[in-house]
Amino acid sequence: MTLNADFVIINSNELVTLAGSFTSPRTKEQMNNLAIISNGAVAVKNDKIVAVGDTNEVLKQLIGDYEIIDARNKLVTPGLIDPHVHLVFSGTREDELEKMAVLGVSYLEIKEQGGGMNKSLKLTSETSFEDQIEITTRILDKMLIHGTTTIEAKSGYEMSFKGEIKQLEIIKKLNEDHPLDLIPTFLAQGIPPEFENDSDALVDEIVEKWIPEIAKRNLAEYADVFCEKGYYSLDQTRKILIAARKHGMKLRNHCDWLAHSGGTRLSVEIGNLVSVDHLIWTPKEEVEALRGHDTVVVLLPTSPFCYVGTYAKAREIIDCGLPVAIATDVSAANLCESMQMMMTLAVLRMKMTAAEALTAATINAAHSIDREDRIGSIEVGKDADIVIFNAPNHRFFAYNYGINHVEKVYKKGELVVDDGKRVT
Ligand SMILES: [Zn+2]
Repeated sequence: MTLNADFVIINSNELVTLAGSFTSPRTKEQMNNLAIISNGAVAVKNDKIVAVGDTNEVLKQLIGDYEIIDARNKLVTPGLIDPHVHLVFSGTREDELEKMAVLGVSYLEIKEQGGGMNKSLKLTSETSFEDQIEITTRILDKMLIHGTTTIEAKSGYEMSFKGEIKQLEIIKKLNEDHPLDLIPTFLAQGIPPEFENDSDALVDEIVEKWIPEIAKRNLAEYADVFCEKGYYSLDQTRKILIAARKHGMKLRNHCDWLAHSGGTRLSVEIGNLVSVDHLIWTPKEEVEALRGHDTVVVLLPTSPFCYVGTYAKAREIIDCGLPVAIATDVSAANLCESMQMMMTLAVLRMKMTAAEALTAATINAAHSIDREDRIGSIEVGKDADIVIFNAPNHRFFAYNYGINHVEKVYKKGELVVDDGKRVT
């Protein structure tokens, strides 16, 4: 068979394909099988991958003119996928993070002093559409430079009817204009001060007014709820998720992050959620109840790293047979755009193997946003979302950490990062 290609990446020390005939997200030992090709090559035509294999075998198939990129001594992986991002916010809170991390000041005290979520709701609401696009583009650029090519992007930092529509319109505009693909989620996140004593009234408004309008305008593929103590109760979460499902949205859920809220149990009761996220305080029996649902557990190591201290029990969750993805949880509370750093923390703090961490950052992350048919692995017919790392192998993320190993990023076959810098 002969093939035309625009370019071919050859001689990769490790070409991590994650190929395999799987229809479900990877579990248990499957998460350790990266399907690595040494001295591997991947050929691309337009926006798709057209050949994958040993360098000599791939080159034999190619005819005509094509560009050759030599990845000798380098690692090549699918574009990284970040499936949990609180993307649209204005105003940073580094002073609060320092107080929490160093002085042990509680989040509640920060909130009483006028900080925390309410500060972000206020500052974001006061920011214009255009200014917010500029602020958010800077975050997306950093993600891209660190090898991320697709993200899930949540609203939730305005929590008013107009504000949430604005947030989702911003996500839509950025999805059109930025090389990164953004999967939009409406998140019922904070409770604004005017509803603090009557959050049921806010939930009624979300169910009766916001969700129908968001659905009508086709602004969110997913709905998500902050099912946490001090935020949305189990009954309120159920009400919002069921209403969103009735309007055609797929579901995710923030569960058991600050404390055991019962949100994981509720997710099993509602059924067929695409992801449940955090699960730091979830009891073992409630984790086990998720088995057989194809729901991906998205683990988020940044808030434990920064101030919570306790990590989700990744080992227990994987060993009981659940598929795991990892994500940055980028938010106004703490900010790390690098999925490489998430792999570092997954290995060094959550006892995941380097292979499990990379599976969690690619193909399982693709499953957690329902895009596994197009991205998350290097296979013929998939989108040419490919990263070349100036590192010899996938274990390097945990060993040589806190720096950016990215050399080149291709998004749908287009070179968008070269020599670690954005080029288009
Ligand atoms: Zn989150």
